[in-house]
Amino acid sequence: MNKLSVLVIYTGGTIGMKAHPVTGELVPFRFEHVLEEVPELRKFGFRIDTYSFDPIIDSSNIVPEFWVKLALLIEEKYSLYDGFVILHGTDTMGYTASALSFMMENLEKPVILTGSQLPIGMPRTDGKENFISAVEIAAKKNQDGHAMVPEVCIFFQERLFRGNRAFKYNAEEFRAFRSPNYPPLAEAGIHIKYNSHAISYPAVWGKKLKVHTRLGTDVAILKIFPGMEEKVVQAVLHTPGLRAVVLETYGQGNAPSLDWLLDLLAKAVAGDIIILNITQCPAGRVSMDSYACGARLKEVGVISGYDMTTEAALTKIMLLTGLYTSNENVKRFLDIPLSGEF
Ligand code: ASP
Repeated sequence: MNKLSVLVIYTGGTIGMKAHPVTGELVPFRFEHVLEEVPELRKFGFRIDTYSFDPIIDSSNIVPEFWVKLALLIEEKYSLYDGFVILHGTDTMGYTASALSFMMENLEKPVILTGSQLPIGMPRTDGKENFISAVEIAAKKNQDGHAMVPEVCIFFQERLFRGNRAFKYNAEEFRAFRSPNYPPLAEAGIHIKYNSHAISYPAVWGKKLKVHTRLGTDVAILKIFPGMEEKVVQAVLHTPGLRAVVLETYGQGNAPSLDWLLDLLAKAVAGDIIILNITQCPAGRVSMDSYACGARLKEVGVISGYDMTTEAALTKIMLLTGLYTSNENVKRFLDIPLSGEF
């Protein structure tokens, strides 16, 4: 029988950093050392190959072109492995996971992103457990021989999340990620318990992986706050070439009922700019019918992003504006879940 196989892709981030001997700053070190730090991986008996980006990056430096490189790498190696683990900085892991979930259509193999809050070489690192569990999940099959979790996921501190539902919630604690609007796909204790009801499986297996590589970047995120000035909103909405805005509103999708704000939003919509409403709350969903302040937004043509995370909303818009030149098509697909994102 063939050995189960996992490709580990190293992009950078804290998991592979060490303190600079002189400045004490955290700087990346070479990937071979990361593997040396986790000899436990050999005990699985899997074939584990590695690929390291060069240069490796702090994930704060991530750009859409990097997501394209990642997706194309997975496409190139897709038939050779049972699953993929991406070691990634935590700062933008939610964005990368969301982007990949939309870019890789018909995905049938696990793509598990993980990282750590403490470098892997440190005695109290959280990196080892995250890395080892991510590899085990990436190779896991169910009884019919298909992948147990054929999705883009984030594994962090004992929990496996759908990638486009999770976001970095805590800058210090080991439990850095949360997914308040969707249950974990698996929980790792003595055993890894899979929540198969929450995992999305293809209706028909065997479809060819399709990677979308065009991502639009004429997008903006606008967070509503008390005292927001007209000139600020104007500056964003009058950005040349702008196609869509993720509007982060209060509560269930409410914004101040200010004439100038509603007027600017109405003019933007009339000028074919998509305004997608998501809530600033980490949990719950937009429901523009609940309050008059939300209803006004709906009246001027703002559309609902339901319970999407900012990361999912932004990257979904990037994918759709990359795919379609007409915003009518973008709007149509914004209202359909593409990868379980709402
Ligand atoms: N700045 C780092 C990064 O995102 C933090 C981390 O890895 O946790 O690359």
